[in-house]
Amino acid sequence: MNEQQPTEDENAAAQDLIGFIDASPSPYHVAETAAALLERAGFKRASAEAAMPGTGRWLIVRGGSLVAWVGPDKLSAKTTFRLIGAHTDSPNLRIKPQPDVQRAGMDQLGVEVYGSPLLNSWLDRDLGLSGRAAVAGPDGVSTRLFRIDEPLLRIPQLAIHLDPSINSEGLLLNRQQHLAPLWATSDGAMPASFAAFLAAAVSARVEDLLAWDAMLHPVEPSRIVGLHRQFVSAPRIDNQLSCFTAVSALAKFAEAADNAADTVSVVALFDHEEIGSTSHSGAAGTFLGSVLERMWLAADGDRAGYLRALVEGCCVSADCAHATNPNYVDRHEPEHRIALNGGPVLKSNANLRYATDAPSAARWVQACRRAGVPLQRFVTRSDIGCGSTIGPLTSAQLAIPTVDVGASQLAMHSARELCGVLDVSALQAAMGAFLL
Ligand code: ZN
Repeated sequence: MNEQQPTEDENAAAQDLIGFIDASPSPYHVAETAAALLERAGFKRASAEAAMPGTGRWLIVRGGSLVAWVGPDKLSAKTTFRLIGAHTDSPNLRIKPQPDVQRAGMDQLGVEVYGSPLLNSWLDRDLGLSGRAAVAGPDGVSTRLFRIDEPLLRIPQLAIHLDPSINSEGLLLNRQQHLAPLWATSDGAMPASFAAFLAAAVSARVEDLLAWDAMLHPVEPSRIVGLHRQFVSAPRIDNQLSCFTAVSALAKFAEAADNAADTVSVVALFDHEEIGSTSHSGAAGTFLGSVLERMWLAADGDRAGYLRALVEGCCVSADCAHATNPNYVDRHEPEHRIALNGGPVLKSNANLRYATDAPSAARWVQACRRAGVPLQRFVTRSDIGCGSTIGPLTSAQLAIPTVDVGASQLAMHSARELCGVLDVSALQAAMGAFLL
């Protein structure tokens, strides 16, 4: 075996990530896939409407978001929170409320752009559909998840003969005009009805289909690629890689957890990060804080103790980091080269676009050392703006010290991204060491 080649365990973690991503084309599916993984590790599902359970192993799903926790039987004056956060959503194209369009004899669907995808990466791919539908029934309105992995849709690029300057001047896409996927030819007849199609897919009458949150996804399966099989080629690596490693680390931790330990370990997966996180289930809202406080009170703690446990706790905000792209080395800070398969990345920014400060960074450095994995430190070039993530929001909402970390990847926000096989198990191990 070539020594560059990942070991069996490293491969197994990457294959598990691939299974997680391929099962999760929408944020709602991410929350359900994560919940199923935790349920297999003994977590029970609580509902937002019922009385909140105290400590123990619990999870709660709200739309595309999830909070899961494991804590000691009894809270003490020293109990603190250890929290890992990540986001479930990825940039994509979403179906409009009245999507049926007919142009030049072709049936198309109107789409909106969600977040900031690399628009060109959605062209000339075989695309499926997923999301959730609100359906009226005798007992009220129910929400049904759906996923169609058939290659239903296609957004064809204009042929080069009709746009000869594209390779010298670049591709400009108008979001209204150039992104509508086609799915049938009707040539003058009524265009195909999206509502009728979706109603059939969720086994409902079309008049009972009240609304949908529907989005496109590439149907090509994820896979391991490269000369030494060192890379994962997949959609939505940002940020399902972090979601998968967080819940699998928590599941493993819970199996070995000592019920007398003085920490409540939490994983929070948020929807809507790609559009700013302001929503009833996003990181800028009260969702996580209200779940944690209700849990704390249900476990016979008081509010003063809850606030103290946050301030004395620590949060790891996990979101993917930019690896240095070898074709665009000049876009990266030269003294902070980030390699695929180089280990977890610690992200910092002087203007707190990442929440990291020296004490919180130290927690992550020590976690990586305990896990025996290498660490990389990321900062952007001083003349290029810095992205942000849920770290600063979580930190500000809960007053919990927070460090921003992540696995490195290339082609962030492409419909097909790339990360390192070794980085999956390394991030898992570092998160596991952080929880211990
Ligand atoms: Zn992200």
